[in-house]
Amino acid sequence: VSVDFVEFFNRIIDRFELSKSQDVTFVRDLPGEAVWVSLDEDKITQVLDNIISNAMKYSPEGGTITFAVHIEETANQILVSISDQGVGIPKADLSKVFDRFYRVDKARTRMLGGTGLGLAIAKEMINAHNGDIWASSQEGKGTKIFFTLPITQEEQKDDWS
Ligand code: ATP
Ligand code: MG
Repeated sequence: VSVDFVEFFNRIIDRFELSKSQDVTFVRDLPGEAVWVSLDEDKITQVLDNIISNAMKYSPEGGTITFAVHIEETANQILVSISDQGVGIPKADLSKVFDRFYRVDKARTRMLGGTGLGLAIAKEMINAHNGDIWASSQEGKGTKIFFTLPITQEEQKDDWS
């Protein structure tokens, strides 16, 4: 199904913003117009839920989480990023966090709970949508998760009224 990604993403961010108990500030850097992406809403909701929960889980009190969507015209895709100001991920672990059951620093992450499957599932789902997913991070400064999704056409509605 063709979905306006800006509206879809806003709805997910709203849900987190309304239910959060933590002192984190959300910043949205989103296009002012609709961007059509063909996606399975349940699956991409699951992807975003995990990335945003991770950002919250590893964010300090008073931190900022920034949500961005950029339109890449030439590649005909959107670049989505979610950045936090949390503990970060060491360089050596950066590519491994997308592996099943991989968790950085067992002691630290055991306290915070989780199975280490979230990002592996996210990678599977983004790849199934013909997108890529990766991370950049600086230890002690924060983490940024990026993914791309192809842009499609707005679906023609079979509605003549
Ligand atoms: P689950 O998602 O299954 O509940 P999880 O959150 O530990 O468990 P993933 O979401 O796959 O698993 O993340 C894998 C690991 O990558 C995490 O355990 C954590 O060590 C690291 N990680 C992921 N996101 C962040 C982040 N925003 N900041 C710091 N570390 C992160
Ligand atoms: Mg997770």
